Amino acid sequence: MIQGAIVVTGTSRGIGTEIAIELARRGFKVGCVSRGGGLPPSDKPLSAEILERLLPVTADVTDEAALRDCIAKINEWAGGIGGLVNNAGIHRDVRASKLITADFEEVMRVNTTSTFTACREVYPYLSKNKSGLIINMGSFFEKIGVKGYAAYCASKAAVGALTRVLAAEWGRDNISVLNIAPGYIETDMNRDYLNAGESGENVRSRTPVRRPGSVSEIARLIAALYVEDIVFLTGETIYVDGGRGISL
Ligand code: NDP
Repeated sequence: MIQGAIVVTGTSRGIGTEIAIELARRGFKVGCVSRGGGLPPSDKPLSAEILERLLPVTADVTDEAALRDCIAKINEWAGGIGGLVNNAGIHRDVRASKLITADFEEVMRVNTTSTFTACREVYPYLSKNKSGLIINMGSFFEKIGVKGYAAYCASKAAVGALTRVLAAEWGRDNISVLNIAPGYIETDMNRDYLNAGESGENVRSRTPVRRPGSVSEIARLIAALYVEDIVFLTGETIYVDGGRGISL
């Protein structure tokens, strides 16, 4: 089991909320980074034991100084950091011919540059202890050409590349770096799309398991990786997409 707190970004909703709560359920202290600075929301009341393992901290992930302060605060609270989950992400559904450069760059800044920054800022804490697991949130869109997703697909492909480089550089510090690449997971990001008749049916019929994934499936995989701490597994992209990316 990884020692020290896990820093998770984008915990205000969706997959990030579930990751933070699942990690706390498994006994980890979790630094919950969000723009609003609140605890991850939950339908069911969280036990006192879980609540005391969650530290809410405030940062926009594109703000380097705020991110650095959050990581320092989490380290002080937990007495060490053992991991980072770069979950915060955005997309813009605009055809490339109409996508303005500022919007392209915003997606790259949140999804890719901030992932790099957070990795760099957490590295001194992990390398000091010669232990750690960084999980970057990619997407199976990294390997397909999705109309309207030029910036998003580029940003997630870059996250895969970044993951491989960091794994190569930091393996000697006993730090592993992984890219988790989900398929369609129902969240605010895509709820309308997945529930609209034709697009929803298209996703279901082209996914071997015949449904979108759940936030819990992603969170449980990530928690299991922190529990098992398999350092030899590094640099890889793990697709969690119900078989969507490997089937015709
Ligand atoms: P949501 O849109 O539901 O949530 C996105 C989260 O990112 C929110 O907590 C949001 O915070 C946070 N966020 C966005 N921008 C910033 C920022 N600048 N600073 C801090 N936090 C920010 O997305 P999902 O839960 O669906 O996605 C989570 C991750 O998983 C993303 O990286 C996404 O690309 C990836 N993913 C999702 C898939 C899916 O099907 N849902 C599939 C593949 C990958 P706020 O509330 O403040 O906006």
